[in-house]
Formats: sequence, structure tokens, C-alpha cells
Amino acid sequence: MCYVQNMKADFHVHSAFSVGGVLGKPHASESVEQILERAEQEGIKMLSISDHDNTLAYSYILNNPQVLDKFSGRIVPAVEANVHYNGTNIHAMLYGFKLEDSERINNLTPLVKARGENLLKRQQERIEKLKRISDTLGIVYDKKFTITQDGLCGHDSFCEHVLSKPENVGKLSFSDMREFYYDNLLNEQSPWYLNFSEDLGSLQELYDEVKKVDKNIIVSLCHIGQYAIESRSQFIREVRPYIDAIEVMHWSHIRALQEECCKLADELGLYKFGGSDFHTQEQKLGMWDNSKREINTDSLRLPENIYNIHGKKI
Ligand SMILES: [Zn+2]
Ligand SMILES: [Zn+2]
Repeated sequence: MCYVQNMKADFHVHSAFSVGGVLGKPHASESVEQILERAEQEGIKMLSISDHDNTLAYSYILNNPQVLDKFSGRIVPAVEANVHYNGTNIHAMLYGFKLEDSERINNLTPLVKARGENLLKRQQERIEKLKRISDTLGIVYDKKFTITQDGLCGHDSFCEHVLSKPENVGKLSFSDMREFYYDNLLNEQSPWYLNFSEDLGSLQELYDEVKKVDKNIIVSLCHIGQYAIESRSQFIREVRPYIDAIEVMHWSHIRALQEECCKLADELGLYKFGGSDFHTQEQKLGMWDNSKREINTDSLRLPENIYNIHGKKI
């Protein structure tokens, strides 16, 4: 698509309506108003508020249309869905639904599943499982460790807790949370394995359902650098039938990965999106690569038929 001029953009931003997927706690700090004000200050011309597994930001905008006065750029409605592909937990972004469809999007089976009414119960079960494993492995933890009613601690907190205990040094073959996740919680061969796919919808299901709402809605694979997969390019080729785009710019992508993603997208005919994955004010809207590089429309490839918040093409 050909823009008259290059525009600063951010297609991945979380508002306080986001809850942290498997964690079940609010993990982004700014309101819709604050984000719109910030985007305006940063000179952003295209913006997606893309909360986890819900479209509440857009219901809010529908009910309070005056908030749109704070931002002079274009808004592309989006939502980031927690789904799995053959058991691997991944995030997929839905871009460009019409505002009047936001309720239908909110009710897509994979989004409802990921929000999970039984999230707290499942978290508690996961912690119980991790405690049982800890007991057999002689790993030390506080017996009273439990999930709180407001969901402020889940299995991640338990892992952090275990890792912080000096008594466990040397007993554990992992040293940080990232390693712990990949080598243990997400590894089917590990006794610590937590099967997240049991309570997530699949990418295929998400793709099918969303195209029934509107075939113009774009499904984009988020931050490929963050998954427990062996080959990124092989994975993208495999999921190609269920995606229209990939996120090429994200803070977790180093320059080389961004270039690899762009090359693959061009080869496979995928659109290219990018975003800051803004959660708190320590990050910068419109910037990727740990707030070092600007996201702009010249370095992306956006679909021509995507809707902005006013139902018009961007
Ligand atoms: Zn994500
Ligand atoms: Zn995100």
C-alpha cells in the first residue's frame, strides 16, 4: 500500500483493560485516555490498542466517543489472543474489526477460553502440581504459598519464589525464569510440564471463527522470538494457512530477527506489522528494539482493506 508520507505507528499497545493471560492479573497500567494522549504527544499517526483476550477498550470507546478527541491519528482496532498451535502457546493479533463487531469478537471461543472463568482454579491446580514436583525433587518453598483471590500470583510467581530461595541453588538445572519456562514448563518431556493448551483455543479455531465475522480481519502472529519452538522459519511456514501477517518489529526481536521476519513475510506473502507491546510508561510508544528504533509505515506492509475505528479503510 502506498502512503502519501511515512507515518509513525504502533500496532501493539496494552491498556489497563489487559489481564495477563495465564497470570490473570491486570498487567498494564494506563487507561485508554492516557494512551491516546501519549500517542498524540509521541506524534503517532496509526495506533492499535491491543489488549489480551478482550475488546473492552473498544466497548469503552463506543460508550465514551469523546475520548477520541485526544488523538488525531487513525486507530485500527485490535485484540491479542492467547491461543495454541499444536500445544505451543502463542499470541495472535486480530486487526481491523469494525467497532460494531467488537462484542462478537470478544465472544470468539478462543478469547472466551483464554479469559477462562476458571482461571483461578486452574492456576491453583498448577501451583499444587508444582508443589508436588518440588516435594519429590527436594526443592524448598513456603508451604503457605497460594494463589490470592484477586489472582495476583500464579504459577509464574511460584517459580520466581522457588528460584529466589538460596536453598535451591544447585538443585535446579535452570537459572532464570525464561530458561525455566522453555526447558521445563513448556517442555513435554519435563516433569514440570504444564499443558497450557488444555485451556486455550487453537490458532486454527481462532482463524476460522474470526473470518466468519469478517473476512477482512487480519490475523497476525505476534513476537515469534518468544516461543518455545525449534525453528522460527519452519513454524511460520507451518502456520501460514492460519495467518495473514506477522509482527516483524517487537522489543524481543533483535535487528537480525526483524530482518529474517521481513524476508519470510515477503516470501510467504504476509503483511508486516510492528509494535512496542507497551505495558507501562517505562516503555516508549512507537518504538521497538527496546525503545531504540522507530516503527513507521515505510518499514511495514499493511493491508489496503483494513478498517480503522470509523469503519473506513486506513
Ligand atoms: Zn504477546
Ligand atoms: Zn502484547
